[in-house]
Amino acid sequence: MAKHTAVISGGAGFLGSHLVDALLARDYRVVVVDNLLTGTLRNLQHLDGDTRLCILQQDCADPLARDEPVSLVLHFASPASPADYQRFPLETLHAGSNGTRALLELARRHQARFLLASTSEIYGDPLEHPQTESYFGNVNPIGPRSVYDEAKRFAETLTAAYRRTHGVNTGIVRIFNTYGPRMRLNDGRAIPNFVYQALTGQPITIYGDGNLTRSFCYVSDLVEGILRLAISDIHEPVNIGNPTEHTVLELAQRIREAIGSTSDIVFLPALEDDPKQRRPDITRAHDWLGWTPTVPLEQGLARTIAAFRHDLQASAR
Ligand code: NAD
Repeated sequence: MAKHTAVISGGAGFLGSHLVDALLARDYRVVVVDNLLTGTLRNLQHLDGDTRLCILQQDCADPLARDEPVSLVLHFASPASPADYQRFPLETLHAGSNGTRALLELARRHQARFLLASTSEIYGDPLEHPQTESYFGNVNPIGPRSVYDEAKRFAETLTAAYRRTHGVNTGIVRIFNTYGPRMRLNDGRAIPNFVYQALTGQPITIYGDGNLTRSFCYVSDLVEGILRLAISDIHEPVNIGNPTEHTVLELAQRIREAIGSTSDIVFLPALEDDPKQRRPDITRAHDWLGWTPTVPLEQGLARTIAAFRHDLQASAR
């Protein structure tokens, strides 16, 4: 009999489903709340028959169809890739506002620990580099990315207000670009895009001149950092991400090489408000959680490429 129950919104998504695996491995009972807007039950299919897992297919802002003692609430529901949140702008604002409030209320009722999945996007197009948690950011409140950035900024504010007003034990993780198996082939983010294009022999498309920099964290590293924060009492935001920085062009070249593809690399006009550089300062995660990423890009890419090959073959059947 599992000792604790965790509720995770967005548990059928990329990160959520990996967290479900990790929570079950630590003997939690897990309740997934997901409306399948950008997620899929295929991400949880390997857990069929596990009686410790309950899946509620519903909006995270609606009252839960089941009520039972809960010790941990993880709020991960939200479209996350730029293509998704620009396709679902109002849904993104809803998940960050009404969704966050509903899950904070759940944590309050059960005196549970609450963890918000925030993002490096709250730093906007940063004027400080690398980004420490004390940096307030540089966000255009009405630009094309604003529905996501401002929803997450509001979600952080609401989380801080619940802690101050109701004494809820809250945590905030600011997640930097993460990649790995179970990302959708057509998700629109750089790594799935490049891998898909290289595997299918299409041109690899880069927005801008390829000199934008990003840092990429492999999903198992991220999950480890998140779980450490989830079981702590830390309420200040904590960056979790890989601080090794790469240009987007270098990333495309490394993916092409790893796949042995002959795809051309083509350059498209730069996207509006696309941050020029992004790298987490992970001193807090290191000093407070004893966490540092361990999976090098080469290894993470190899695992991701293998999973994408498998997904492509399955979708062709
Ligand atoms: P994802 O799109 O794969 O997962 C999001 C999940 O939330 C999906 O399963 C979707 O169906 C669900 N969802 C959306 N709106 C919902 C609602 N109103 N009610 C219930 N379910 C809803 O994205 P992901 O990459 O797994 O991201 C998960 C979380 O982590 C998001 O909150 C995202 O902002 C955050 N994050 C991710 C990254 C990253 O690199 N992957 C970076 C920063 C932050």
